[in-house]
Parts: sequence; structure tokens; C-alpha cells
Amino acid sequence: MNETSLNISIREVTKKYDQFYALKDVSLEIKSGEFMTLLGPSGSGKTTLLMVLAGFTNPDYGSVKFGDEEVILKPPHLRGIGMVFQNYALFPHMTVEQNVGYPQKLRGVSAAETKRSVEEALNTVKLEGLGHRGINELSGGQRQRVALARAIVFKPKILLMDEPLSALDKKLREEMQIELRQLHDTLNMTTVYVTHDQKEALTMSDRITVINHGELMQLGTPNEIYEHPNNHFIADFIGESSLLPVAIRDGKASLNGEKIVMAEKAEKDGDYLLVVRPEKAFLADKKVKGSNYFSGKLIDSIFQGESQLLVVKLNSNDDGQEVRVRVPNESVTQKALPEVGQTVSIGLKVADSYVVS
Ligand code: ADP
Ligand code: MG
Repeated sequence: MNETSLNISIREVTKKYDQFYALKDVSLEIKSGEFMTLLGPSGSGKTTLLMVLAGFTNPDYGSVKFGDEEVILKPPHLRGIGMVFQNYALFPHMTVEQNVGYPQKLRGVSAAETKRSVEEALNTVKLEGLGHRGINELSGGQRQRVALARAIVFKPKILLMDEPLSALDKKLREEMQIELRQLHDTLNMTTVYVTHDQKEALTMSDRITVINHGELMQLGTPNEIYEHPNNHFIADFIGESSLLPVAIRDGKASLNGEKIVMAEKAEKDGDYLLVVRPEKAFLADKKVKGSNYFSGKLIDSIFQGESQLLVVKLNSNDDGQEVRVRVPNESVTQKALPEVGQTVSIGLKVADSYVVS
């Protein structure tokens, strides 16, 4: 038994607003001590699911268990969870210390123990010495840390966070992603983290649950979700990809009438989409076995620092289908890149060639 965390079991949770399903039959198991991210576009139901876990929203149907205990009828303050809201929800008229100590006060913890736990929480989030500051005297990043300290001050076994980094600028946000993950590894509480940012989800999570229109679309490790998306929505939403129409007839795949070879045989004939990740596609000067090749015209070439992004319009393609190819900026001695307007050949290894529907 791990005493610092609890597993969460969500069964068949449905939440309707009039005829609209904010959540539709969502079931998932979150392991004890796991960092689970709920990822989906705006309006997909992420906050609703988090609020069902916290107890602020009652589902119309379904069950939520923390460990062996059914909590669906328990009010939020009895669920023993730490929570970081999207807007931090700090008390502006209180000091940092008072904000962080607030949950302890509510729980009737002694003044001495509150003082000790507040100091510990402030140390954990690297705000030691700032306890007497007013909230208005803090930067956005510091406020975010105060909200986090308040959520962990009573050492909850479950920590819920709703887009906690969305108000921060990119550089700070990326630093905080690493820091929050390290904090989780230190404290080891089960963490449910909501974001609409796929890169953030890939960076931080043990596993990701992708939600769209209130439904669970795919659950897996960052690697599984990225390398084996279940469908075109996920292939498009997670990472970059060009999706090219592929027809499979009598088990044979073709793109614009030309034969291509897939990593795995499709289960049945039909129309699919080939997922081309820009970093897996490459410029090919000669064709060797083991890869598929597409020829087209280079229509754009963009320097992005660590890589060059090439946009290629495929030949023999009525829709003007584009493929993106990312060439790493590996060395100054690397071969010259083609010029815009040139015809180029793009390769994609058979092992990297898969379709989604
Ligand atoms: P997300 O956090 O993924 O952006 P939400 O869970 O906040 O999405 O919302 C999911 C859907 O449910 C949205 O379409 C939203 O408008 C709707 N919704 C959320 N709360 C309410 C409410 N109290 N009344 C009516 N509709 C709501
Ligand atoms: Mg939300």
C-alpha cells in the first residue's frame, strides 16, 4: 500500500446540460501515484470531469471511487483532495501565508502545526521567505506557486489541477511543466492534470486521456498516443501531421493511384488517412527499399532555429495535398536544402507508414 496516494476509478460518468452531453459514459482507471492528464480541445469536457472528481459537479449517472471508497455523494471538502484552479482563486486581501494556511484553518489544525506545514509547503514550491507578502505583490508565476502550495499544504493523496499554467508566458510555462512534474515525483500524490496543450501533456504525463465532445477518445502513455493514434482526430490534435488520403482495395494500399506499403496490413478495405509526421518524413535523393516515396514541389521553406520546415505540394494530387517535412539543423556541414519551386522526393519508412480512419 502506498500511503501518499490513492487510485481513482471513474465508471460510466455522464453529465448532461439539458440535451447536451458534457460527459458521455466516461470510464477510466487512474493508478495510485500516477500523473494522468486529461487532454482535449476547449469545450471537450475536461473541467467538467475534474469538477466531478472534486465534487463541485454532480454527474447524472456514474461512479467515482478514491481507493475502495465511493465518493460520488461526498461534498468537496470531505474528499481530501488538493485543487489548483485555472484562475488560482487566491484570496487577494490575505497574505501568502494566510492563503496557504487556509485549508488547515478550515480543517481545525492547530496554529503551530499550520505554521509548520505552511513553511514546508512554501519551501516545496520555492517561495520560502515570501509568506508575509500580499498577493498583489507577486508575479503571475509566484501566484501560481502560492495556489500550488495551498493545494498541497495538507498533503492530499489526490491533487487536481485545471490548466494551472495557462496564464504564464511560454518560457515560464515550460520551466514550470518540468518543475511540477518533479514536484509530483517527490510528493508522489495521484495527480489529475487538465490541459488543452498537447505538448504540455506529452511533457508531463505518465498517461494521457484524450477527450473530445465529452467522450474518451484514447488513453495511453505519451509515446503510445503519439506513435499509435487511434483515429484522425488524435493524429491531428497530438503533434504535427499531414494526413493523406489512402485507398485500401483487396488489401492493397494506394495514394493518388500509386502503390504504397504499410507497416501493418489494414483489417479491411476502405478509405483511410496516412499519418505523416514531419520529423519522420525525409528528403530522398535516391530510392531504396523499405520506404515509400512521394514526389512534389517545394512551396515553402521556413527556418525555425532547431529545424527547417519544408512544405511540399504533392504531384498528381487534385486536392493540392501538402506534406510537411522537418529537417533537423544538425550541422553546418549538412547538405544544402532544395530551393522553393524545385521538385523534391520525400521518403517515409514503411515502419513509419500507418493509416487512421
Ligand atoms: P473544457 O474544460 O474541456 O474546456 P468544460 O468541461 O468546461 O470544457 O465544458 C464542456 C461543455 O459543457 C462545454 O460545451 C460547456 O459549454 C458546457 N458546460 C459546462 N458547464 C456548463 C453549465 N454549467 N451549463 C451549461 N453548459 C455547461
Ligand atoms: Mg476547462
